[in-house]
Amino acid sequence: MGCGGEFVPPTLVSPLDLPPSQQTEIAITAESNGRVTAAGGRAASSAVVHDVPTPSGIGIRPNEAQQLWVPDAGPEPPEGWRPPPYEVPLSIHYDDHYWLARPLPSGSRNYDLEWYPYGNDVQLPDRPSYRIHHGLDFPNQTGTPVLAASSGTVVFAGPFPSPLNGVNYYGNTVIILHDWQWQGQDVYTLYAHTLELFVTEGEVVRQGEVIAGVGSSGEVSGPHLHFEVRVGTNNYHDTRNPALWLAPFEGWGTLAGRFVDKNNQMISGASLTLLPLNVDVPVRKQSTYHSIVQSDEIWQENFVFGDLPAGQYRLMIDMNDGVHIYEREMEIFPGQTSFEIISTDFEFIPTPAPPATAVPDSAENGSSEN
Ligand SMILES: [Zn+2]
Repeated sequence: MGCGGEFVPPTLVSPLDLPPSQQTEIAITAESNGRVTAAGGRAASSAVVHDVPTPSGIGIRPNEAQQLWVPDAGPEPPEGWRPPPYEVPLSIHYDDHYWLARPLPSGSRNYDLEWYPYGNDVQLPDRPSYRIHHGLDFPNQTGTPVLAASSGTVVFAGPFPSPLNGVNYYGNTVIILHDWQWQGQDVYTLYAHTLELFVTEGEVVRQGEVIAGVGSSGEVSGPHLHFEVRVGTNNYHDTRNPALWLAPFEGWGTLAGRFVDKNNQMISGASLTLLPLNVDVPVRKQSTYHSIVQSDEIWQENFVFGDLPAGQYRLMIDMNDGVHIYEREMEIFPGQTSFEIISTDFEFIPTPAPPATAVPDSAENGSSEN
């Protein structure tokens, strides 16, 4: 609809006298606070044709306006819909450092794959163990723009074979060294498996700049972006959970926590099930971090649930030994991290065996459906 400068008095038209396409426009006009738009103009001319009386003074009779107005586009948001993310940097809680924007645009899948969280192996019962995840995966159609999560300099752009065995696990990869530090340390972000690269080494990029397109290069089972945050050095062993760096969606927040034994040692491999309070359907399931991944310097967490609508939740923690099962209720607040420490009274003895699928140094993972 255009916005004409000329003022035409609002005119009421019986909705049934108009073709359906104009009925909605009338409704919008009725809601537009006395201002008349192009649609209103057409309504006025229709009024003449149909000889409907024009009330003077008040333009809209409230009951009819209510009747005409269509309040909802649909009953529920479509599956997978998310509100826009908050602007970065965001630190509502003083320990939060949501300094990175989502590496994918709104309208694409800019939230991570729920069955392969950071510090976890693949969480699907019908899938074999794969590799402990050092990042987050964002399945998307081939060619979806990949965006710089923050400003900085491209320090790597190209195929990224492992220095140990030459296997190109990561595929076409971009690594950005950001032009700010955190806790006196450099911060890098890594974007793997891309189809094509739009930047070269040494290039300075701004937050939100298109640096690549989503692809399936490297070792993958489908097109997705593998995204890592590395703190201190640009090394596979120095990743952190990106869910503590990517700003939440508006009205959404993050749950992080530390599950420890009686000696305050972090317990790995415990099963976590998160449910909204008074609802029996879990929103997410994962495990406490495998011991090979790093925790955040400030939070010292060993689990994170990102992207949770604010509200009350219930967390079930199961050591899978038939003995130690814990439950906590907690609240998620918009735009911040809720942190929970769950202390137990037993001594945790980690399994001495290394993970079944040891990772070649500097190698990556990345697997997704789609
Ligand atoms: Zn991945």
